[in-house]
Amino acid sequence: MPAMEQWPTGEIEHAGPLVRRLLAPNPSPFTYSGTQTYIVGEGEVAVIDPGPDDERHLAALREALSGEKVVAILCTHTHRDHSPAAKPLSQGMDAPIIGCAPLTLEDDGPRADAAFDPDYRPDRVLTHGERLDGSGWTLEAVATPGHTSNHLCFALPEAGALFTGDHVMGWSTTVVSPPDGDMAAYMGSLELLLGRNDRIYYPAHGPAVETPQRLVRGLIGHRRQREGQILRHLERGEGRIQDMVPHMYKGVDARLHPAAGRSVLAHLIDLQARGLVVQEGERWKCAG
Ligand SMILES: [Zn+2]
Repeated sequence: MPAMEQWPTGEIEHAGPLVRRLLAPNPSPFTYSGTQTYIVGEGEVAVIDPGPDDERHLAALREALSGEKVVAILCTHTHRDHSPAAKPLSQGMDAPIIGCAPLTLEDDGPRADAAFDPDYRPDRVLTHGERLDGSGWTLEAVATPGHTSNHLCFALPEAGALFTGDHVMGWSTTVVSPPDGDMAAYMGSLELLLGRNDRIYYPAHGPAVETPQRLVRGLIGHRRQREGQILRHLERGEGRIQDMVPHMYKGVDARLHPAAGRSVLAHLIDLQARGLVVQEGERWKCAG
């Protein structure tokens, strides 16, 4: 991780054409240096991933936006480090919340990365391909389920940019935590990005990605490797997730091992759906 002083919270940074960035003060092993809120456009702007409901962050955001007209507050998904500031910001700025669908889960399950924001109430939900026009900019929703079922990326064609939320990040692979997280959907959403020609990614956590196609190809290869590792464990009769994780994630911060276990489970569920493995209690085995 780069030194924290390179990651000033509460200060607006110019990230690229039409894009400004404000870092929230919520660093953690899951959020890297924290959640980055993006401001798109000038004068008439959109805010992407307003972030956690944190007074310091909201105050910095309001200050950055003073004198500007916020026409939309967009959320990539409803994890608590992304969407809760939407409501207070929307009330103070009289701006609509537009973006991903809300999630109504009966059971949040044992989530390793971030809990859902149950208070998220969008004024308008965008589906894949829907556009939002501002002065000098357009944002287009790109449905990218996987990290969560409601995850959207937002393309900014005027800058060749894609706001990738937690779908693709430069600093780490994303956590895919069942039941809402879905590995097959996530892989499909990576393939979808390969078919696009965005020049730069702005993720919610970590630095901008200037070689997006190479990164996405790497992420796909990485997941296939993980899948192969899991199958080799099962072939050796090592069928419990908690026994696989320390081998598979050697050298990874142990605080992230429970989250890694969720992604291993997501792989196993995908392999089961493809008829390659079966589950017996907490043990998994190769099928046949
Ligand atoms: Zn998330």
